[in-house]
Amino acid sequence: MNIYDFAVIGGGPAGMFALLEYKRKKPHGNAVLIEKNGTLGRKLLATGGGRCNLTNKIVSDANYHGSNPKFVRNLFSRFSSEDLQSFFTERGVSLQNEKGRIFTKSGKASDILNVLERELRTVSAEIILGKRVDIVAKEKNGFRIDLENGESVFSKNLLIASGGASYPQLGSTEDSVKFAEIMKVKCSVMKPALTGINSDDRRLKGMRGVSFRAVFILLKNGKKVCRIEGDAITTDYGLSGPAVMDITNFIEDTHKDKYIIKVNFQHGTTCEDEYEKLTRFCENNKKLSVKRYFEKSVPSRISTAIISGELKGKNEKCGMISREDRKRLSMFFTGYEAAVTSLRGMEEAQAVKGGVDLAEVDPKTMQSVKVKGLYFAGDALDIWGDCGGYNLQFAFSSGMIVGSSVAVE
Ligand SMILES: Cc1cc2nc3c(=O)[nH]c(=O)nc-3n(C[C@H](O)[C@H](O)[C@H](O)COP(=O)(O)OP(=O)(O)OC[C@H]3O[C@@H](n4cnc5c(N)ncnc54)[C@H](O)[C@@H]3O)c2cc1C
Repeated sequence: MNIYDFAVIGGGPAGMFALLEYKRKKPHGNAVLIEKNGTLGRKLLATGGGRCNLTNKIVSDANYHGSNPKFVRNLFSRFSSEDLQSFFTERGVSLQNEKGRIFTKSGKASDILNVLERELRTVSAEIILGKRVDIVAKEKNGFRIDLENGESVFSKNLLIASGGASYPQLGSTEDSVKFAEIMKVKCSVMKPALTGINSDDRRLKGMRGVSFRAVFILLKNGKKVCRIEGDAITTDYGLSGPAVMDITNFIEDTHKDKYIIKVNFQHGTTCEDEYEKLTRFCENNKKLSVKRYFEKSVPSRISTAIISGELKGKNEKCGMISREDRKRLSMFFTGYEAAVTSLRGMEEAQAVKGGVDLAEVDPKTMQSVKVKGLYFAGDALDIWGDCGGYNLQFAFSSGMIVGSSVAVE
């Protein structure tokens, strides 16, 4: 049986960065990374629609969710967004800032993965690909790691960086929770986060692929929960896109509570102000179709659906629209209500709620507070960020701290 000082389960950003940092600090250290897929970083390649939204210009605990968002403070004070950006730019990757979101300039997530693979080769890191870890066990001076092909390795320190269960089509599983629970580390069930919503809304449903920007207000049983301004997209089943995914962070149980997303297509203008503006436009443009008023701010497929639905075959010329109809249109365009019937599943989720309980982990080292030598990083943990580069930042920062902690212990 091969014996190591440090073994990593999972070849995603967290696992790769941990191994790299360990080898940079301890070049002769005996370490191995085991990845079940035949290649490293499959999920990383899918990030940002294949463009990789690496991080965000401003990263703070306000962008994270779960039982203890403050957990990230220590991590980011030691490896920040600037540190992550410098790591890649110093190695030849050009990055660009898109409204605070940092993407690869080339539009290729593979630029990021190529650097990581090159750096891992440079430090002569040992990597086992295409072999799934089946089971782990705590032994006297470390951990036994059994692969599904019957081989085993032994390691003094073990990092569980096998990610979350989102996007199972890329090979993701709930193994992180399985391994942690074997070690008696407390975990919660993984559920989809950052996903679309199913809505039985009759106007927008089925209007596939229309992108728009709006202010979204989430109501839970009629009470305001949050307000998010951003981009969204209509889908066959309801709504998706970054702003809607961020809203799902605040949706708990759709069976127990009634959730409605109010969409203000007029960037937060009140219904009253909208009515005044629309009325003035109609008075001055009696011969124009009322669609002309909305065309600057709302995609025409959406405005046509709402106007046709509300005017029900009446003349759409501005001069012919009644006071009541102007009121109703103003109401719809500033407070369109999409009832949330349920959230989309793991197949479309970009993150997971749940995983390893943060109270079980020391944020200074990412080591288990109960089991010496056992570490966690990335999506395996019960914390997740908004859309915008926050989840990769967490994976890289937490991985970096594990690698550094194991190397200096
Ligand atoms: C479609 C999509 C788009 C996204 N876009 C962004 C974005 O633009 N910006 C952003 O910040 N975040 C994004 N995310 C989230 C981001 O990808 C994750 O937060 C990040 O990949 C987490 O890294 P990780 O290393 O913890 O886990 P992962 O990247 O999931 O890596 C875990 C690895 O462990 C391996 N593994 C699992 N079980 C075993 C086992 N038993 N044995 C061996 N290996 C195992 C898996 O195959 C996997 O390669 C996106 C996610 C998705 C699904």
